[in-house]
Amino acid sequence: MPSPETPLETLLKAQIAATGPILLADYMTACLLHPDHGYYTTRDPLGRDGDFITSPEISQMFGELLGLCMAQSWVDQGAPTPFILAELGPGRGTLMADLLRATRAVPGFHAAAQIHLIEASPSLRAVQQKTFATHAVTWAKKIDDLPNSLPLYLIANEFFDALPIRQFTRHTDGWCETIIGVANETLAKGYAAPTQIPSLAHRLDDTIPGDVVETRPDAAPIMARIGGQITAQGGAALVVDYGNWRSKGDTLQAMRDHAFANPFTAPGTADLTAHVDFEALAQAALPARATGLTDQGAVLARLGIGARAERLARNLTGAALENHLTATQRLTRPEEMGSLFKALALYPPNRPAPPGFD
Ligand code: SAH
Repeated sequence: MPSPETPLETLLKAQIAATGPILLADYMTACLLHPDHGYYTTRDPLGRDGDFITSPEISQMFGELLGLCMAQSWVDQGAPTPFILAELGPGRGTLMADLLRATRAVPGFHAAAQIHLIEASPSLRAVQQKTFATHAVTWAKKIDDLPNSLPLYLIANEFFDALPIRQFTRHTDGWCETIIGVANETLAKGYAAPTQIPSLAHRLDDTIPGDVVETRPDAAPIMARIGGQITAQGGAALVVDYGNWRSKGDTLQAMRDHAFANPFTAPGTADLTAHVDFEALAQAALPARATGLTDQGAVLARLGIGARAERLARNLTGAALENHLTATQRLTRPEEMGSLFKALALYPPNRPAPPGFD
């Protein structure tokens, strides 16, 4: 039985009928953030009862260890006061809550931190407001709304993968962009005629006709802002996501109910993400320095997840202990999230890199 058309599907089909096929990036934006029917706008998708689970939701250790890394970097830069402590796309606010708990004993850190959460989804913002009922937190919809005259310490886990992508297939005469149209009364992927794309010139070296490359138009201005502020004012950014130094291939994926789904059916009801191209992020953040791209498992190991896991295990028995051990493995083992997920840190020129990163 075909499922009934979603409200967003009806709207997109009408739009395509009126004005022609749309870019994949515009399709993703509508699916994720349409004001009435967007996936993030209308729900809390995280956790066991949601469609997917993220590292901070798997274990408190993720936010604790990255928080201590952040605080050490702040100390290494002379403990500037005040400073901005920001998170992009905080989901339920779990990572920031764990970070704050773990850094309570760092002298001066909390007193100096002005906490800013950048969140586009009203429903997730409501969840975050409950998480931070007793903290002074400022919400923003975009990074440009943050004060730019203070050091910036920023964290982003699984934020960039949710930003819309454009997709180009190499052709002998240029690049064919992925577009979304309607075929047989259903939304379907198609390709625009080949054109020259000057910004993809560097991809002519590592691709052949038929290869697919992806770009993320909204990421560069965000990274430019972060890199510029870190360079001018001090600070650091820790970016964790799935992807690679340079991404290649069609990596668009839809997740619904913890399983892969077709990205073009039932728009607005599945999470759409694509691999993060960390090279593009690092380039856009210049002149801030970037560490080498490091596996999540390696970063967590260097930040002391082994000792922290043992310490937490001492107070646990039975199913809680089992869950804790499973969660530790899930975050770190290469065959689970340990090497699919990568971490990159940005920091000012002439300053030490945050600990734990290459
Ligand atoms: N970092 C969280 C949540 C990841 S899901 C975790 O690890 O659990 C992606 C998050 O980014 C959600 O909070 C989503 O609402 C937010 N988001 C997606 N696109 C955004 C945008 N363009 N601007 C701000 N937030 C966005």
